[in-house]
Amino acid sequence: MSLETVPKDLRNLRACLLCSLVKTIDQFEYEGCENCDEYLHLKGNRDAVYECTSSSFEGIVSLMSPDDSWVAKWQRINRCVKGCYAVSVTGKLPPGIVRELKSKGVHYRSRDTSLKA
Ligand SMILES: [Zn+2]
Repeated sequence: MSLETVPKDLRNLRACLLCSLVKTIDQFEYEGCENCDEYLHLKGNRDAVYECTSSSFEGIVSLMSPDDSWVAKWQRINRCVKGCYAVSVTGKLPPGIVRELKSKGVHYRSRDTSLKA
């Protein structure tokens, strides 16, 4: 058991492609994504973590009180758990996952603002 709580290697940080939550790859694998695991099934599935999160993201906002945060409204994350969120995430969810989301009534919007028309 290690007493070290700060990630040693920040390059292991990844952002969820669906909600833009930022955690280390190990956290995604062990805990899943608190917002989207019922759709993405990241918990215990490293392959899914690689597919549904991105190591390429910009800017981090910290979400402390989702209900009254303008940042949360701006990022459309006001219904998500407290934590750190990326401002822009590069990458797309696999088509199979997008289809699954659609069948569950979840409208997926890319978090990649650099592609915005
Ligand atoms: Zn997520």
